[in-house]
Amino acid sequence: MEKHILSKSSYIKGVQCQKQLYLSKHHSKLRDAMPPERLAIFQRGSSVGILAQQLFPDGTNVGPKHPSQYRKALEVTQNAMNAGTTVLYEAAFQAHKTLILLDILVKNGDQWDAYEVKSSKSLSETYYQDAALQYYVLINAGIKIRSFSLIHVNTDYSLQHTLNLSELFIITDVTSHVESKMEEVKNQIENSIFHLAQDQIPEQSVGKHCFSPYDCDFTGYCWSSVQKPNVFDLPLVQLETKEAWFQQNFDLKKLIQEPGIDETIRHHAHAITHRKPFLSRNVIDTNFLDHLQNSKLLFLKLLILHPAIPILQGSKPYQEHWVGLAIQSLEGNEPIEIIISNIENHNEIKEKVHQLASENTLITYAQSLGEIPHFDLQSCILKGSYYHPRMGSEVNESALAKAIGFKPEWNGINHPKVAAQKTEQWLQMSPETEDYLNLKSKLESYLTREVQLISTFYKTLLES
Ligand code: SF4
Repeated sequence: MEKHILSKSSYIKGVQCQKQLYLSKHHSKLRDAMPPERLAIFQRGSSVGILAQQLFPDGTNVGPKHPSQYRKALEVTQNAMNAGTTVLYEAAFQAHKTLILLDILVKNGDQWDAYEVKSSKSLSETYYQDAALQYYVLINAGIKIRSFSLIHVNTDYSLQHTLNLSELFIITDVTSHVESKMEEVKNQIENSIFHLAQDQIPEQSVGKHCFSPYDCDFTGYCWSSVQKPNVFDLPLVQLETKEAWFQQNFDLKKLIQEPGIDETIRHHAHAITHRKPFLSRNVIDTNFLDHLQNSKLLFLKLLILHPAIPILQGSKPYQEHWVGLAIQSLEGNEPIEIIISNIENHNEIKEKVHQLASENTLITYAQSLGEIPHFDLQSCILKGSYYHPRMGSEVNESALAKAIGFKPEWNGINHPKVAAQKTEQWLQMSPETEDYLNLKSKLESYLTREVQLISTFYKTLLES
């Protein structure tokens, strides 16, 4: 069989933007560096997929050991089906120069039931497109498909004793939906293969499709020719609204003059065009600084897990567990206190935070403590009383670090999603091994850095 041109991921790239697909195939060096938090999401997806295979136990994994071994995987899949294997994981099929790997394929009489697993809490349009492509390839590869289903995580499930996979996962039969998409998939495949065969990069102007449904890997390349700054640099504005302004050639200066524009957006636009941070002292004085008088300030950063698969009895998928804590006092002469607990003792962290809140004013950034009284400094940005143009369109911890000149630690953990993923890994390691101690030290550095970021931001607000 001739080598495939498209895979599931490249097909989805083409649906989002033909230029993205072309660049990824022919000019991959122009790709932006992959942010570590995106890699963390991919890794979560694969562990949920492996668990969901056990909904149909005793299957044979026929997937390629390496992406380059796709031809062998096609052969192994075919051989397994010919030999009467009734449950296959990662089965490979190819049709119309498009290769897919299907998560689970189960024999049902003389037909097959196909399943694709998503680690998400719900199903989105992209997953339906993804399923439609797989169904198209399967039927064009001559497989008699009886049904096609998507599997995702049931957030209402609560762990009692051992994992009950049939309650943990929701199986949705999408056969009639994907059948209705066959013509669309055929056209999309032909269109993508046509564009890939050209010598020229497809013409495609930038816009909201660069960020939806996924952040494109080539924004650095494509957006370098777009006038900066522009409305896409604004934080806290819906992508659709930015797109509408962009199409109407609204630059930020025009936006500042526009009657009826929200005052917070006007402040942000002003800060970006004048390259100067914006700080409204009134809002901070009234709502924040006055409230803090006569109270000891403690800056606090939590290490939080949201495991897709519940770990503790009675817990649900993606439920929040506090497993680590960094505390710094305003005075700065007391050392930063770091606590990292194992997950069984996570209540200790909550009790400690409750106790701290009863005697002090707790300050966080982009972190809610639920019912525990605290002040989240991110609200100064969300309410429009502070914004630094270096933050760009984000208001998360990384954006704040850029704004106040906090350099990321080389080879360190620099994002809450990465910290959560590394903590899950750490909790599964044998205590006191070298890897365990190294990772613990990295998590401690992460917490230290994050709590220092909050205290530095607080001082920045006071000094501005
Ligand atoms: S940055 Fe936008 S226009 Fe450029 S390839 Fe990506 S999605 Fe297409």
